[in-house]
This record gives sequence, C-alpha cells and structure tokens, in this order.
Amino acid sequence: MRIAVLVKQVPASDKVKMDEETGTMVRSALDAELNPLDLYAVEEAIRIKEKTNGAEITVVSMGPPRAVDAIKEAIAMGCDSGVLLSDKVFGGADTWATARTLSAALEKLGTFDLIFSGERATDGETGQVGPSVAAQLDMPALTYVSKIRQIGDGKIVVERAIEGGHEVVESSLPALLSVVKEINEPRMPNLTGKIRARKTEVLTMTAADVGLDSSTTGLTGSPTRVVKVFYPSMSRNGTIVDGRDPDDAVQKLLQFLNEKALV
Ligand SMILES: Cc1cc2nc3c(=O)[nH]c(=O)nc-3n(C[C@H](O)[C@H](O)[C@H](O)COP(=O)(O)OP(=O)(O)OC[C@H]3O[C@@H](n4cnc5c(N)ncnc54)[C@H](O)[C@@H]3O)c2cc1C
Repeated sequence: MRIAVLVKQVPASDKVKMDEETGTMVRSALDAELNPLDLYAVEEAIRIKEKTNGAEITVVSMGPPRAVDAIKEAIAMGCDSGVLLSDKVFGGADTWATARTLSAALEKLGTFDLIFSGERATDGETGQVGPSVAAQLDMPALTYVSKIRQIGDGKIVVERAIEGGHEVVESSLPALLSVVKEINEPRMPNLTGKIRARKTEVLTMTAADVGLDSSTTGLTGSPTRVVKVFYPSMSRNGTIVDGRDPDDAVQKLLQFLNEKALV
C-alpha cells in the first residue's frame, strides 16, 4: 500500500505579518513549524503502515527550502520518504494553485492508495487544500475523519465527525482523508527516528519537474486575489454606568439593556 501525507510548514506564531502590496504572508521573518493539525495525519498514516505489510509513506509539502524541516519531522515520526515542492513560481499560491501543484506532484510520484491531509492549516485555515487535491485527482474526499474502522480489499470505512455525532462512510480506494484531532494521539519522534530523518535525503521538485508552468502555479496561476490586507480597527463608544450606588447602577444598566432590546 502506498500512502502520501500532505504536510504544511506554518508560522510558529500568531503574529503573522502581511505584505500589504501583494496581499501575501511574509513568511521569511517567522519561526516555522509543522502544522500541528498535520501531526494527526502523519500519525494515522504510520499506524496503518504498522498494521500493513509493505506499506510505505511519502510526505509531500509545498513550501520554501526550509519546509524540509517539516518533512523531516514527519520522517522522524516514522514516515519513509519526503518530497519538497519548492520553486519561486509556486510563491503566492491560493488554495486552488496549492492543490494544483500538490496534485501534479502526486501524479508524477505514481499511484497512492491513500492520501492524508490535516483538517486545516493553522495559518491559512481554509481547510480547502485536502478536498481540492481529491477533486483534482478525481478521487473521493473523506473529510473530518475521526476514526478508520476498516481498511482493505480496495475499500475503507471511516467515521466522520459531524455536528452532534458521527457519520459512518464507506468509500473505494484510492481516497483522500482529512483527519481531525480526535483520531489519535500523535507520537513524539524517538532518537532512532531523528537519526533516520537526518540521514534521509528529501527529494526536491520544481515546477518543471511536476510539469507545470507559472501560468498554472503560484500567484499568477491563482484564480483568487487578496485585494486588500488590513488589521480591523476596534472602536467602541462605551457607556459608563455610575457605580457609586450599586442598586441605582443596576437599574440604569437594566434600563440601558431594555432600551437596546438586549434583555
Ligand atoms: C482567497 C485566498 C487567496 C490567497 N492568496 C494568497 C496569496 O496571494 N499568497 C499567499 O501566500 N497565500 C495566499 N493564500 C493562502 C494560501 O492559499 C494558503 O497558504 C495555501 O493555499 C494553503 O491553504 P490553507 O493554509 O488554508 O490550508 P488548508 O486548506 O487549511 O490546509 C489543509 C491541509 O492541506 C494540506 N496543505 C495545505 N497547504 C499545503 C502545502 N503547502 N503543502 C502540503 N500540504 C498542504 C495540509 O495537510 C493541511 O493540513 C490565499 C488564501 C485564500 C483563501
């Protein structure tokens, strides 16, 4: 069984800076980490590998050269190999162009029975990339997967977290699964894993390697545009209720809330 896990390197901070001119994130100035929600995807892939003879996991990420660290972290946990999609023309991609690039690379890398993604990335937070990859590869997308009940004989049965409960879904393979936190408890990489990750060479692929050009990747190939980036200004005209006489203050407060039809 061939498994791919999509991982994204994200800023290890919520103090994200934006380039107001291009509408893109200034990533170079930030510390980076493996998207915390992708750890669950990596862990689930490893658990399947441990139960399946001959299964092999490839970690795939699109990002700048330093995104190799995120890939190596997944390898240290137990994945086998890594592919970094890195090229200047990939920069500024929206979710569609990101998924286009990942899909093109996955096609080049051969057939995968299972593709895992995280529920969402903690920076972009759209949750679109996983399902978009599935759509572009023309395979079923099983989103919000909280448990894999059964896998084998070309099919998979999963539980999906839905509002107020779970839904059991059966799908044919290959399929893409985006997983939620409830699915497992990600392991910490051990020393052997870390040494193996250090020794494992991560394959880098450029736009030419995956067969794309700048018209279908990155900022130019993105059908959406960030028109304006700004920090919302919070302006409130507060009303101060004189609190020297508590009973009087409560009456005034109730009158104020009544007038606003808030109680
Ligand atoms: C309308 C719009 C316009 C945008 N324009 C720009 C822009 O101009 N410039 C810019 O820098 N950003 C832009 N972004 C952000 C950019 O789309 C995201 O950084 C990127 O496409 C991933 O989307 P996301 O962070 O929402 O990931 P999500 O969809 O939330 O991620 C879900 C999962 O997909 C996988 N995944 C996501 N990204 C990757 C990746 N790079 N490699 C491997 N796996 C991945 C991971 O498993 C992740 O857990 C834009 C976003 C939107 C919605």
